[in-house]
Parts: sequence; structure tokens; C-alpha cells
Amino acid sequence: MDLSFNEDDVAFQQEVREFLATSLPQDVKERADRGLHPTKEGQVRWQKILNEKGWMAPNWPVEYGGTDWTITQKYIVAHEMGSVAAPQPMAFGVSMVGPVIYTFGNQEQKDKYLPRILNSEDWWCQGYSEPGSGSDLASLQTKAVRDGDHYVVNGQKIWTSYAQHADMIFCLVRTDSSVKAQEGISFLLIDMKTPGITVKPIYGLDKENSLNEVFFEDVRVPIENRIGEENKGWTYAKFLLGNERTGIARVARSKRQIARVREIAGAEKCEEGYLLEDPDFVRKLARLEVDLMALEYTELRYLSMLSNGKKLSAEPSLLKIKGTEIQQRLTSLLVESLGMYGAPYEPERAYEGRNETPVGPDYANGPMAEHLYLRAATIYGGSNEIQRNIVSKMVLGL
Ligand SMILES: Cc1cc2nc3c(=O)[nH]c(=O)nc-3n(C[C@H](O)[C@H](O)[C@H](O)COP(=O)(O)OP(=O)(O)OC[C@H]3O[C@@H](n4cnc5c(N)ncnc54)[C@H](O)[C@@H]3O)c2cc1C
Repeated sequence: MDLSFNEDDVAFQQEVREFLATSLPQDVKERADRGLHPTKEGQVRWQKILNEKGWMAPNWPVEYGGTDWTITQKYIVAHEMGSVAAPQPMAFGVSMVGPVIYTFGNQEQKDKYLPRILNSEDWWCQGYSEPGSGSDLASLQTKAVRDGDHYVVNGQKIWTSYAQHADMIFCLVRTDSSVKAQEGISFLLIDMKTPGITVKPIYGLDKENSLNEVFFEDVRVPIENRIGEENKGWTYAKFLLGNERTGIARVARSKRQIARVREIAGAEKCEEGYLLEDPDFVRKLARLEVDLMALEYTELRYLSMLSNGKKLSAEPSLLKIKGTEIQQRLTSLLVESLGMYGAPYEPERAYEGRNETPVGPDYANGPMAEHLYLRAATIYGGSNEIQRNIVSKMVLGL
């Protein structure tokens, strides 16, 4: 594995740093650094800046608007963005459905949807999970029945992140109930404004509305909105999940979190002086830094494998397990570093436009919200137990 940067890489790193220093809006950066959910307006504004620079979809093929960056350059961008808390483009469009469209979609679908993802005209959400069909996704029941040149969709999706903002949803639907579960699923692209769709909020542990239920009642979807062949949706769905898990380790974000813990612990007092001088606290922080470094080198090893033309199998599952465990430990430590100011949690809405000063120093606004939200990190993107099953099957042959 060659991890050294050549001269071109160092120059590129400098270009990325300058771009971020001059182009990342302060309000967007501040929100992301606090670990709060993005606003639609702020996220779209930032994505349009990235797109103007040609950096919206680094992983797409150049012909569809991607970059020809080397693996090292992709690593540099992800790392630099993470270290200044620059949000990544919303994954549902650019990392999930985009690659499905350019890999399995027809020419009309590519021409119609890919530019709209790049310029953030469409905000996408993911309609996979249903009540009773999460880990056992193939058991999903939302039905699509052919009626002339349309499907008529009935059913319910759940845990649909940011559906309240979405213009489009990519949906797994059952088009044949008479065959093995995986063989009767199709992949539809549905306009969220179609009559018969209702979005209902679910408030999470952080008391914020990032999750939703989406109901479909006689929703008419043109047949041309189906990706690939009818009843072959499971193939496209699995392809998408592989992409979802690769980006979920969030190493650069965790490195920024380590820096935040240091900043806060350097300002917070404890009995013996500053928290950053407390041996117990420093030991916990060091343990996390070591684990994060091991994760980073593991990710780099996988990137190196990819750049040498090798294929990954269970590796994304390993990154997902370790990455999300570290994220959870880190936000726990962030809250711990705040001492008593970590406890009086108020959802972020409570801070907007109010006269009273929030409790504690400014840096106390955010960590508890993220700590609570990230309890879900070991569940979403396929729970960590399911990832361990994948590892035990593919690596250990159990
Ligand atoms: C914050 C958040 C955001 C999400 N966003 C989206 C989204 O945008 N779109 C979307 O479609 N879905 C989304 N999800 C849903 C997510 O994909 C599911 O929650 C996840 O796949 C688990 O499914 P489930 O909730 O039905 O739990 P279940 O499948 O019922 O699992 C319950 C528990 O049993 C364990 N378990 C289940 N089966 C096995 C097994 N075979 N072996 C060992 N343990 C097992 C699980 O690990 C878990 O601990 C989101 C979830 C969360 C929490």
C-alpha cells in the first residue's frame, strides 16, 4: 500500500484547502460542525457551489458529470472536507440513486435525472424500509399493480430520512407475490407530488424531525419510471446498499470530532485543572484516537485495493461496524467533556429566535443532539448485527 502523496497530490490538497476556505458558507459549516441536521436551503446552496466547481459527484464517471480523480485525490477531498466540517452532498441522490440510474437506467432516465441530481433540482429520499421489513428487507409489502402504462402503488414506507424535503423517492415495490420474495421486487422512481402520497413526521430521540412515514394510496406511477426490468429490483437495491455502506465510516468527520473534544476539554475545568489534563479523560481520548487511526488505515488499505483493480466483498461491512461504533463513542465523550452543560438538552428549534441565552457556553449547543441522533448509526444503513452476519458468512465462511 503506497500512502505517500506525490507533488501533484500536494498541489491538489492546497487547491482543495483554498476552495474550502473561500467557498464554504460560514452558516453551513457551523451547523455541520455542531452536528445538527442540515437545513434544505443551506444544503442545496452548498451543493450548488460544489457543482459549479465540478466537485458534486467525484465518484461518477466523467461522461455523466463526475471527476477523473485518482483514489488518492478522492481521499484528499473527503479528508479536507471533514476536517473543516464541510457537509458532504446529500447521499440519497448523488451516492445512492445516481449510480443506480447511470448503471441500470435507460438513456431517457439518465438524461432526465442525472443533471437534476448534480444541480440539486431534485432532493431524493430512500423508500426501502417498511414496518416489519427492515433487516428482512426482501419481505416488503408495498404493492405496485400494472394498469395500462402505469403502476398503481399502495403501501407504506417508514424511517424515510428527510422525506419532508424530497422532490423524488426511489422505492422498492412488490410487483409479483407468487415467487420467491427477492424475485418479485421492482425499483421505481416516484415524484413526491403525485396525488396519493402522504408524508408524516416521526420525531427522533433528538426531538427533531429527520425521519418520516410515507404512505401511498392509489399512487399512479408511469411505467417509464421503473429502473431496469420488472421484478429485477433486488439486484439494483443490493448494488445501492453496497455504495451506501462504503461512505458510512465517516473517518474525516470523526477526526474533526476528536479536535472538538480537545477544544472543549481544553476549556472545561475539572478538580485538577482543565479536563484535558485529567489522566482518566485523556486515556479515553487516546483510546479513541488509536481506534480511529486503525480505522483510517484500514479504509486506506481498501482504497488501495480498489485502485489496484480488486473488488471488495465484506470490507464495507467492517468499515460500517467500526466507523459507527467510533462515532457513538466520540459523541458520548463530547457530551462527557461538557460536564453539567451536556445535560440540559433542548432541541435546536428551541434556540431559534428566542430571547433567553442558551444554557452553558456556545459549544454546548449541538453535542447532545448529535449524541442522541447517532444512537441510530448502528441501526441505519443495515444494522451492525446484520453487518456481522455478512462478515461471518463472507470472511469466516460460517
Ligand atoms: C435514523 C434512521 C434513518 C433511517 N433512514 C432510512 C431511510 O432514509 N430509508 C429507509 O428505507 N430506511 C431508513 N432507515 C431504516 C433502517 O434501514 C432500518 O431501521 C434498519 O435496516 C433495521 O430495520 P428495522 O428497524 O426494521 O429493525 P429490525 O430489522 O426489526 O431489527 C431489530 C433488531 O434485531 C436485529 N436483527 C434483525 N435481524 C437479525 C438477524 N438476522 N441476525 C441478527 N440480528 C438481527 C437488528 O440488528 C436489530 O437490532 C433508517 C433508520 C434510522 C434509525
